[in-house]
Amino acid sequence: MPTTHAITDPRYARQLVLRGFGPAAQTSLHDARVLVIGVGGLGSPAASYLAAAGVGTITLVDTDVVDLTNLHRQLLYTTPDVGRPKLAVARERLQAINPHVVVQTHDTRLTAANARALVDGHDVVIDATDNFPARYALNEACLALRVPFVYGSVARFDGQVSVFAGANGSTPGPCYRCLFPVMPEPGTVPTCAEEGVLGVVPGIIGLLQATEAIKLIAGIGTPLVGQLLLVDLLSHDHQRITVARRLDCPACGDAPLLTPSPMSIQHLSAVEVAALLAGADAPTIIDVREPWEYDIAHLPVSTSIPLNTLPTRAPELDPAHSYALLCHHGMRSEMAANWLLQHGFTRLINIDGGIDAWSTDVDTTVPRY
Ligand SMILES: [Zn+2]
Repeated sequence: MPTTHAITDPRYARQLVLRGFGPAAQTSLHDARVLVIGVGGLGSPAASYLAAAGVGTITLVDTDVVDLTNLHRQLLYTTPDVGRPKLAVARERLQAINPHVVVQTHDTRLTAANARALVDGHDVVIDATDNFPARYALNEACLALRVPFVYGSVARFDGQVSVFAGANGSTPGPCYRCLFPVMPEPGTVPTCAEEGVLGVVPGIIGLLQATEAIKLIAGIGTPLVGQLLLVDLLSHDHQRITVARRLDCPACGDAPLLTPSPMSIQHLSAVEVAALLAGADAPTIIDVREPWEYDIAHLPVSTSIPLNTLPTRAPELDPAHSYALLCHHGMRSEMAANWLLQHGFTRLINIDGGIDAWSTDVDTTVPRY
């Protein structure tokens, strides 16, 4: 983890003396966690400058390897890196730029199934994706978790930037679906690979995204919430257009049509969960009862996390792992499972009937109370 030494490191000297920024904003950067989806044309400059500026934790999501055609715009990578995974090279470069920064990596594509788990725990997301399903999934996850995301896209000589914070976010505003309610059909919007892009364009747009992220984290200036910045680099006709929140938005409107998540909690009996424990992919049993109840009776294979401590202890858990929630009769465990579902966990089982059913149906040596 970065140390407090990081805040006073000479590399930040020009930010520490900067009026309107200074040590308080530098500390906010140090404490911040930024998720960068895609380490390509936009993510490469954004992540470089966020690392240099002193963002404490940067999480990168990508699956690509470096290609020769990337190098005119993705300056995190050099010619000898061709063929190497972008994540590995990006981590090395970012830590070389600033060893105080913790760089986390996820070798995966963002999808509707994993978006919440990826976004959870971050303060800001940089949307540097090049595909629409990922961007729409990101929008839904950010709305659900109340995390603002900084949108950027480029084509040819043009780019655009905005900040989508959602109506419920700390900085209220429209969401991505308020601007583009319907996802384009595949093939209807040409990609950079198809129509090309001047190398400097994603560099500039990626840096504007990094700028917006820094503004949000440090609480300075006016972020582009509810504003879409259109950048035409051939003419330098830059325009800001207002994006209003749509009351009929399918994602954040007054009657959202999209269900927050296709995932749900599995309800299993004590006998069914006991059978799972013998398998290769056994769930971990989390007992959410109070410590005094745990002292009376508990399963040797369980971990005690009382319900009211779950928000502070959830970081100990792995969102991709399977958990079976246990309480006395199955009510509190269901509350715990719902909370975990809202926070990016995807494989959740409620042990219906709780430890009471366990002592009746599975192991009669477990005391009842
Ligand atoms: Zn919306």
